[in-house]
Amino acid sequence: MPVIEMTVELQHIRAARERIAGKVERTPIVLSQSLSDRTGRPVHLKLEHHQTTGAFKLRGASNAIAALSAEEKSRGVVAASTGNHGRALAHAAKLEGIRAVICMSRLVPENKLDAIRRLGADIRIVGNSQDDAQQEVDRLGADEGLVMLPPFDHPDIVAGQGTLGLEIMEQVPNAASVLVPLSGGGLAAGVAAAVKGVSPRTKVIGISMARGAAMKASLDAGRPVQVEELPTLADSLGGGIGLDNRLTFAMCRDLLDDVVLLAEDEIAAGIRHAYEEEREIVEGAGAVGIGALLAGKVKVSGPTVLILSGKNIDMDLHRRIVCGQTIAERAA
Ligand SMILES: *Cc1c(COP(=O)(O)O)cnc(C)c1O
Repeated sequence: MPVIEMTVELQHIRAARERIAGKVERTPIVLSQSLSDRTGRPVHLKLEHHQTTGAFKLRGASNAIAALSAEEKSRGVVAASTGNHGRALAHAAKLEGIRAVICMSRLVPENKLDAIRRLGADIRIVGNSQDDAQQEVDRLGADEGLVMLPPFDHPDIVAGQGTLGLEIMEQVPNAASVLVPLSGGGLAAGVAAAVKGVSPRTKVIGISMARGAAMKASLDAGRPVQVEELPTLADSLGGGIGLDNRLTFAMCRDLLDDVVLLAEDEIAAGIRHAYEEEREIVEGAGAVGIGALLAGKVKVSGPTVLILSGKNIDMDLHRRIVCGQTIAERAA
């Protein structure tokens, strides 16, 4: 058995839920008739894209900020973000009346950047990758004393995201499997800890895009590795897991039953299905569960839950995808 130096368990997730009660929505879960018909099993959609700020990241951000001391709050918080974590942190910081500085790479779409700016955070654009943005975060932490709250590799962030897993198991207690969008693994680690803490036999499966799947490459290598960051329709799943990852790599390794990778057209099919069959607008990262089922890449053996993790997609891009126009120029 590998030695786990740090982990997040059910008790931490239950504590997180009490801490963030009233600050985040308990999102609805609905049966997808079309996906149930297609797979022959009940398929439930956890509508987390209806969360305040449009993604689950508010859970982790609210928990991490609520857990700060008064002295830490007075210094403010800083993070690197591909968008949704920054947005969540900005919102949670504003509620708490504290300063937030968000660093991001030039790959972040304009709509996400604007949303964070409107929430009142300071924005720094640096470099072409999450790692470049992270260097600026380290500098601000060291030079200006801001408290660093990373997007996934932090116990309070993972515990906050795990509250989503608690809700799922209350809403669908007999779930046989839960499909989780996977990037840095904060969501997957938290959800898996909650789901398996309550129901050890329920399978938890991570879904990433094939273009730049850092967690999958790391799990295959047996240690955190770097992969090239590429543009993808699932832009919220971009970025590395950190070569010094101390929490989510080990949790994903120990708790996930499988990781599945999707091509860009399979992600597009998920977005299109969400819109036309479910009447839901989701971003690429939020559509990978649907995409995986449509592509037949996950074996459905019983009641299945898909997490629709976010809705913050550029609407011009969304229109082009649902119209079936080529996505080649983006994927090129
Ligand atoms: C951040 C994000 C993910 C991936 O979460 P990780 O904790 O980095 O694995 C999935 N979907 C959306 C919409 C996100 O914003």
